[in-house]
Amino acid sequence: MTAAEIRKQFLDFFASKGHTIVPSAPIVLKNDPTLIFTNAGMNQFKDYFLGNKVPAHKRVADTQKCLRVSGKHNDLEEVGIDTYHHTMFEMLGNWSFGDYFKKEAIEWSWELLTAVYKIPVDRIYVTVFEGDASENLAKDQEAYELWKQFVAEDRILMGNKKDNFWEMGDTGPCGPCSEIHVDCRTDAERAAVPGASLVNADHPQVIEIWNNVFMQFNRLKDRSLESLPAKHVDTGMGLERLVRVLQGKQSNYDTDLFQLTIRATEKYCTKKYGQSEKTDIAFRVISDHIRAICFTIADGQLPSNTGAGYVIRRILRRAVRYYFSFLDVQKPLLHELVPVLADQFKDVFPELQQQVDFVKKIVFEEENSFLRTLESGIRRMDEVMGNTTSKVIDGKTAFELYDTFGFPYDLTTLIASENGFTVDKKSYDVALQEQKDRSRAATALDLDDWVVLEEGNTKFIGYEQLTSPATVQKYRKIK
Ligand code: ATP
Ligand code: MG
Ligand code: MG
Ligand code: MG
Repeated sequence: MTAAEIRKQFLDFFASKGHTIVPSAPIVLKNDPTLIFTNAGMNQFKDYFLGNKVPAHKRVADTQKCLRVSGKHNDLEEVGIDTYHHTMFEMLGNWSFGDYFKKEAIEWSWELLTAVYKIPVDRIYVTVFEGDASENLAKDQEAYELWKQFVAEDRILMGNKKDNFWEMGDTGPCGPCSEIHVDCRTDAERAAVPGASLVNADHPQVIEIWNNVFMQFNRLKDRSLESLPAKHVDTGMGLERLVRVLQGKQSNYDTDLFQLTIRATEKYCTKKYGQSEKTDIAFRVISDHIRAICFTIADGQLPSNTGAGYVIRRILRRAVRYYFSFLDVQKPLLHELVPVLADQFKDVFPELQQQVDFVKKIVFEEENSFLRTLESGIRRMDEVMGNTTSKVIDGKTAFELYDTFGFPYDLTTLIASENGFTVDKKSYDVALQEQKDRSRAATALDLDDWVVLEEGNTKFIGYEQLTSPATVQKYRKIK
């Protein structure tokens, strides 16, 4: 079964249970002061749960483009190293706004996974909220009883508040959740180690695929809970993980969702996927990051030096550095993958195909300009790491790498950690703040702000100005 068929089966299944299929919200959020990127399917429905808006339909389902690289959910460090955390991923979800509750949600998730997708019953584990006496929260006995109809009791595991109780924020809707995990280990591995203890214990082949949240309480300012008059269901299942399970792969990257861009990347380098762990990580990171970059730009967020734009620039530069350092590619490569993705997703997210030339051009310009300083930045890092015995890169150097060579802080820490170094964040922050103060002072003095000066009169004050084609010719006058 292809990923497209698997996605369609999910939506068809919930349509058959009376759900209206709605489009994904944009990955970039412009009107939410609390969140810059969509990080879960429920984000676009927040106002229904808060009671600020009345939903047009009480049952909906969709596939939502999500990005988890900042704030509460930041999976960036995992990406490419493990095989199931992505920056951008699709979250399949079904919702009940004050309509059905635990019984239907649990029955349907079981029916979909075992009768439609045919995942073997003895490979599935579920988790249930165990309760928390300090918060006066009871065990979710109702969910336990419902699961017991389907799952042997030794595969129903109790989970704590951190994993199995969901809250929107300090106040507002909240409730227990039940996760579904699939054990993809080989038969031999399963025979050697008893399975249940592995759930949530970071075994790379036992993975969480689906979370069912049951919103039944409202958290008040004094931390007390009241029962919600209308109870809601909010579920999220990672498509890439589901596809990996159904296609019988050991890694999300071996599914058809990532193979096209991995094969395309191979055409531009002399390496092949599967040759070594080091180059494989690079292939995985590139095929992951290009999705985040493309869909975010297609949703209207250009790379820039602040906010959401800087998050995208950071991801893009990280991907460039991976092909530069590990795949021996010195020329822009990412933009070549844009049409591959656009074609692959044209039926589900046509917005990329509709702007394919534009997105390709932006990506090309970004990677091209970063490649101009990347090599000297890496050389500078090697020099610093070679000259110190402390295994710490000082903040001043990290700032210089950022300011002069365009290295986002997390790229510097990544390269540092690959070499057994850490970065002094405190002194980096001080240097960054000093620059902000300097530029504020300079702006106060110089009302002309950007002026083109003759050579000799100018001083290069950072990589930042080289990134945008419109400002390439401009240098800031330093008094
Ligand atoms: P994990 O514990 O693996 O980080 P999570 O508990 O943070 O996942 P949820 O917030 O419960 O994830 O999201 C619902 C589902 O979305 C998960 O069960 C998983 O299938 C998927 N998912 C979450 N984060 C990612 C990610 N970074 N990449 C791919 N899929 C993800
Ligand atoms: Mg997580
Ligand atoms: Mg989890
Ligand atoms: Mg979860």
